[in-house]
Amino acid sequence: MIQKTIASAISVEGIGAHSGMKSRINILPASKDSGIVFIRTDADRDNSIAANFANVSETTLCTRLSNKSGVSVSMVEHILAALYGFQISNAIIEVNEEEIPILDGSSDIFAREIASVGTVAQSKKRKCLKILKNVKIGEEDRWSSLSPADHLILNLSCDFSKKGLRTTPFSYDLFQDDFATEIAPARTFGFFEDVEYLRKNNLALGSSLENTIVFDANGNALNDGGLRFDDEPIRHKMLDLIGDLSLSEYMIIGQYDGFCSGHKLNNMLLHALFNSPQSYTLE
Ligand SMILES: [Zn+2]
Repeated sequence: MIQKTIASAISVEGIGAHSGMKSRINILPASKDSGIVFIRTDADRDNSIAANFANVSETTLCTRLSNKSGVSVSMVEHILAALYGFQISNAIIEVNEEEIPILDGSSDIFAREIASVGTVAQSKKRKCLKILKNVKIGEEDRWSSLSPADHLILNLSCDFSKKGLRTTPFSYDLFQDDFATEIAPARTFGFFEDVEYLRKNNLALGSSLENTIVFDANGNALNDGGLRFDDEPIRHKMLDLIGDLSLSEYMIIGQYDGFCSGHKLNNMLLHALFNSPQSYTLE
């Protein structure tokens, strides 16, 4: 497996789901071994934030990264998922605000832009992390684990029954399944009963039916046109998972299994993994 970057720059503009503020990102090619790095172009000091799990400073509603000077960028998981889905190991993501734009609530626009510019191989082997022993965290009703396998396979399930949604497990094989068509279009989602709470707490100020699936108490989507997939919520959870796991900075060679996991548990799993050197080897 070889390192890759994007073939040319991409520029995308939109509003932040939580702040409601407009922001622009430029995704730029980067040199080999540089990893994925966010640059806050509006900050005048220490504005570089590496896309690494140790920099995760917040996992409520979305994943936020912060550097040592406290400069942060939030809602990073959808662009990171797109880069990992296309197996891009090196890129610079410039952003002129605190939040990456939500766009249509999925990774679809990022995936289309990446597909249209293409990727380039960089004559250096991709850093891989091979799982040797099981690592598991969580409780009975919410857990995640990594175990040995010959390439990255992700198995996710979630109990949505209390919310009136169908509960179906979903699996994704990074090499056999197509990220752009199977995962990227799946949108973020929420429940009508939570909308008032979010608004009262000044959260989700930029959220609307344009970028979020909103389900009523019976599990019906209120959006015009309905769902893009029957199981769109679990596919979006998979999208978030791919973005969160990319923060390992390695191509993981192993199998992920999770039940009702989210950004917080995904981050705890990476901490548990890297705190357990006997459970992996770097290749
Ligand atoms: Zn998401």
